[in-house]
Amino acid sequence: MSTIAFIGLGNMGGGMAANLIKAGHTVHAFDLAEAALAKAAEAGCKPFKAVKEAVAGVGAVVSMLPNGKIVKAVYENDVIGHAPAGALLLDCSTIDVATARAVAAIAADKGYPMVDAPVSGGIAAAAGGTLTFMVGGPDDAFKAGEPILAAMGKAVIHAGAAGAGQGAKICNNMLLGASMVATCEAFALAEKLGLDLQTFYNISSVSSGQNWSMTSYCPVPGVGPVSPADRDYEGGFATALMLKDLKLAMDAAQQADASVPMGAAAESLYQMLASAGEGGKDFSYIIKMLRGK
Ligand code: NAD
Repeated sequence: MSTIAFIGLGNMGGGMAANLIKAGHTVHAFDLAEAALAKAAEAGCKPFKAVKEAVAGVGAVVSMLPNGKIVKAVYENDVIGHAPAGALLLDCSTIDVATARAVAAIAADKGYPMVDAPVSGGIAAAAGGTLTFMVGGPDDAFKAGEPILAAMGKAVIHAGAAGAGQGAKICNNMLLGASMVATCEAFALAEKLGLDLQTFYNISSVSSGQNWSMTSYCPVPGVGPVSPADRDYEGGFATALMLKDLKLAMDAAQQADASVPMGAAAESLYQMLASAGEGGKDFSYIIKMLRGK
């Protein structure tokens, strides 16, 4: 078992670091928020007062931070040149592809293998160790990082070269956002046409319209398996986080000169929902807006 520095112990990182402890690793923790650091210490991590101190002497560094700007600053200023040469760097935050590639290139230049390893799964999956990791980076870095990531998730998949993990993540979430909107539209129209929504579910869930947003995460309360809709759209995957991922997808599409009209429509709709003050609600709450209620 190795000594790992964990930077960013918020809603996701807190649970992930606790799972590294359960797997027998020694975890050096750093977060700007005192409360997050104290919680990590309760879970068995050793708290540090600065990133530079936390990364001294470790074999690997894992980060779970809010955005690309912070990730770049933390790695450039406080990790690279301060962690032992050759330490493996794993950034699990969801950030833009261009920054992920840029930071990996700077790290490689200074002799640090690095992977981008964003996750699918929310706070419950982070706590339960059932995340899916999508990993971008060279083969040897992937192989070295796989056992560390496996201690925090149920699946670790090599997506390709640096940035490919972020690419897979935002393409998946763009598809999820668009399919949720389409699913909500279908239920809202079915309702206006006088159909019973459970009956529509019974038909569509075994027909060609079937999709994950319908059969695993139904936006209609009382229909399909239990989902955030049954808890007044609390918990689950927040609208603000879906909007963040859709914005990252739009940036990537612009840079890659790709047409993403459905993703762009989903982005505008989630922006409207967030601007209406509903950024904290689960992303299936978009059905209320589409129903006009
Ligand atoms: P969060 O805000 O709960 O946690 C982020 C933590 O980073 C905070 O504790 C904050 O204090 C800390 N932090 C910020 N700047 C820092 C710095 N310079 N040095 C050290 N610590 C710093 O966010 P979260 O929900 O845990 O999300 C983290 C990442 O995971 C994001 O990139 C998010 O998009 C991604 N993600 C979140 C979810 C989810 O359901 N919450 C799901 C998948 C992916």
